[in-house]
Formats: sequence, C-alpha cells, structure tokens
Amino acid sequence: MRALPDQQLKKRRRPPGRRRTEPFWRLLFPPRCLLCRRLLAAASPVPLCGGCRALFTPAGLFCPRCGKELLSGQPCSCAPEILPLRGLFALSRYEGPWRQMLHRFKFGGERALARPLGNWLGRLLEEETGWQPELAVPVPLHRRREEERGYNQSFLLARFTAEALGIPLQPLLVRPEAAPAQSSLSYRRRLENVRGAFLYRGKPYPGKRALLVDDIYSTGATMQEAATVLHRRGLIVFGAAAAYTPRLS
Ligand SMILES: [Zn+2]
Ligand SMILES: [Zn+2]
Repeated sequence: MRALPDQQLKKRRRPPGRRRTEPFWRLLFPPRCLLCRRLLAAASPVPLCGGCRALFTPAGLFCPRCGKELLSGQPCSCAPEILPLRGLFALSRYEGPWRQMLHRFKFGGERALARPLGNWLGRLLEEETGWQPELAVPVPLHRRREEERGYNQSFLLARFTAEALGIPLQPLLVRPEAAPAQSSLSYRRRLENVRGAFLYRGKPYPGKRALLVDDIYSTGATMQEAATVLHRRGLIVFGAAAAYTPRLS
C-alpha cells in the first residue's frame, strides 16, 4: 500500500486522546443529564433530560461589543467589526441551574462535565454559525491557579469542542502572571487587570480562523484581551463559551 504524504497524515490526525479513549470514557461516564445527572439514552443528541430541557434557556449568538443577543445571521447595528472578536456564541445564560452546573465544573472538580458540554457546544456552533473555525484555542489559566484547581476548565472545554468540530486544539496563549481573580473586581478593574495578561506561544497561523474557548463570558474583558493577542498575530478570532452574562443596558 502506498504511504500517505506527510501533509495528508497531518490533516487526518485527530486532537490528542480522541477516538482511542472514547469507549473507556463511555464506560466510566455513561451519558447523564448535565443538570440533574439522570441517566440518558446513549444516542441522546442533547445532554439534558426531558425535565431539565424545560429549565434550560438556550442562548446562541450575541454581540461581542454591546452584548445584545442576535438572531443567527443578523449582524449587530453597533458596528462590532472594530473589535478583534468577530462573533460570540454561548450555550446558555449564566443563571439558575446552568450556573450551578458550571460552578460544579469549575470549582467542584467535576471535570467529566467537559466532554458533554464541549461536544454540545461544538455541534451547536457548527449548526448555528457559519464560522468554520480551523483550530480551537483555550483561554489559559495561570499555572499556579491551574495547579491549585488541578485542571483548566477552559482547556478541557476547548478540547471537547474541538473534538466535535474535528479541528485541532492549539493552546497558543499563556498567562505568565497570576492576576487577582476577575470575579472579585469591578468592570473597570477587570479591564485593567487583564491588559497584557496573555502571551502568544507557538507556531504562527496567519489568516486561520480560530475559536477562542472560555467557560464563562461575563464582562468579556478576558476574552477580548485574549482575542486581541491572537488578532495581532493575524488570526481571525471567534469566541465560544458555555455561558454568558447578559450585559445590563
Ligand atoms: Zn435533568
Ligand atoms: Zn452590538
């Protein structure tokens, strides 16, 4: 049989740990409802049981500049094209049971939530946006904070979002210093706090469409700063999150 040229081999390669580990994960973590943990039918396309679907408020596209929720395909009137972030997509608003579930994911050590969350985020993104990202970039945590927590929830989320989209995971950003936790600061302080927080590390990908992934989009300061760093390196950046906080206007 003729060997494939390097280039083709590279294209076929899946993100690390993809197919090989799936049966193992399936056995350990049979699909459960994200909110109430009830067992689901293996083929369920939505990781929520019937009862919890009624509690779930789907989000979708929203404006990276003014935070307004957008109907698919309709650009916002506030001229968001001046920002390095071309678009934003979230699974749901950061409220109610969805907020509690993300709290378990972020602070409660429930890293197994990453797979159903990330896979669902990737699938919906593919169905509802025309972005066609070529690589996924997680918003990094400072190493010290990641060591305390044992994992970076955004990295895990990005890994499984990339898996669903069939694109590589590229951790192109690093966070060299531990800034105070964003949630403890006012909006203005959050913007100052993240300025210069990220460094680009790795191969250049000029002109590539990158999907920047974070667990929660609240003021947007973190994701805007991360997008700016990628944008300066020539990447076209879209943002995705498991939840977002609607901006009060
Ligand atoms: Zn449920
Ligand atoms: Zn807007």
